[in-house]
Amino acid sequence: MSWQQRLDQALAARHEKAQFRQRRINQQGDARTLRIEGRNYLNFSANDYLGLSQHPRIIRAWQQGAARYGVGAGGSGHITGYHPAHAEFEQRLASWLGYPRALLFISGFAANQAIIAAMMAKNDVIYADKLSHASLLEAAALSPATLRRFAHNQPDSLGRLFARPHQGEALVVTEGIFSMDGDQAPLAALQAVSRQHSGWLLVDDAHGVGVIGEEGRGSCWQQKVMPELLVVTFGKAFGVSGAAVLCQNDTADYLLQFARHLIYSTAMPPAQACALDAALTCIQQGDDLREQLQSAIRLFRQGARERGLNIAASETAIQPLIVGDEVRTLKLAEMLRQQGCWVTAIRPPTVPPGTARLRITLSAAHQPEDIERLLEVVHDAMGQ
Ligand SMILES: *Cc1c(COP(=O)(O)O)cnc(C)c1O
Repeated sequence: MSWQQRLDQALAARHEKAQFRQRRINQQGDARTLRIEGRNYLNFSANDYLGLSQHPRIIRAWQQGAARYGVGAGGSGHITGYHPAHAEFEQRLASWLGYPRALLFISGFAANQAIIAAMMAKNDVIYADKLSHASLLEAAALSPATLRRFAHNQPDSLGRLFARPHQGEALVVTEGIFSMDGDQAPLAALQAVSRQHSGWLLVDDAHGVGVIGEEGRGSCWQQKVMPELLVVTFGKAFGVSGAAVLCQNDTADYLLQFARHLIYSTAMPPAQACALDAALTCIQQGDDLREQLQSAIRLFRQGARERGLNIAASETAIQPLIVGDEVRTLKLAEMLRQQGCWVTAIRPPTVPPGTARLRITLSAAHQPEDIERLLEVVHDAMGQ
């Protein structure tokens, strides 16, 4: 087979299964609205849960940071790319979340890849929730460790996997709030099983930090669990981009030696760390925003129940409507768009086969009439 044939076949297969992915240009938007191909939509696809991506204070912090530091870090953090803005934000983030150390990464994807690659060796085992994010499962699959997947949110299933003997170290991997389902992991029970077998726990709280727990400290704080490795990301509730791992001093020192994404990659622009610092202030003071988000969630779920929609067991900003069939899911998303509501159809392989869904995400920026409109339009489309 030639390269050309390989590409042709792969693309044809994606088309056949209605899995072909395309990007659209979002000309102008925020957490509430967006403009695509000249048309305005209500935005129910963003992860900007608190609407911070357009916050004037954060924008100003980025501008002032750029004026002070320039636009780029100038190198890897190990060479000359580690600036006061990084150090100060890491320190502040760590003490906010109750850890001795935080290390910044350019993205959540990179953080997960880097941590798993640096930590895992041959004979080790990664026990990952079946529905863990691609960045975790892929890193696990690429690592020399064995990957075993436990049933979604089931500590008993994890316990049964641990009953099979293994030689090396064990790492249990889960999300705080699951990105495609919106449900929360039973972190204390998972950590109890993990500790019983001397394993470490990695929690990826991309969708929890900023949104839940006291001051928005996330899933772990809310559930009073301190995993050995906590990953938080800044592209969601923080409204910016980037990520951090929270850990003990030795773990941070170890990652600084062995996490290749930190060593061989340009550090986050220091101006971005300034923006993140301002975003953290907004989050700490964001009880009103979190309350607005909660009322949007309540309104959506109540309205969905009244209309007999098949909502999932999620109390968070992620509200999937499971459809099942991929073609029908795409068609529904298209119908919603025609009515001015932008909702993403999520299909396999992002989610398990047979669980194609409309992934509705809510934000503090949504007004009650936005939610009402969405409910009407979804109800109409489902009835057709
Ligand atoms: C979005 C997401 C990531 C990736 O984070 P980025 O900063 O966007 O690369 C990782 N894990 C989970 C659970 C996510 O939802």
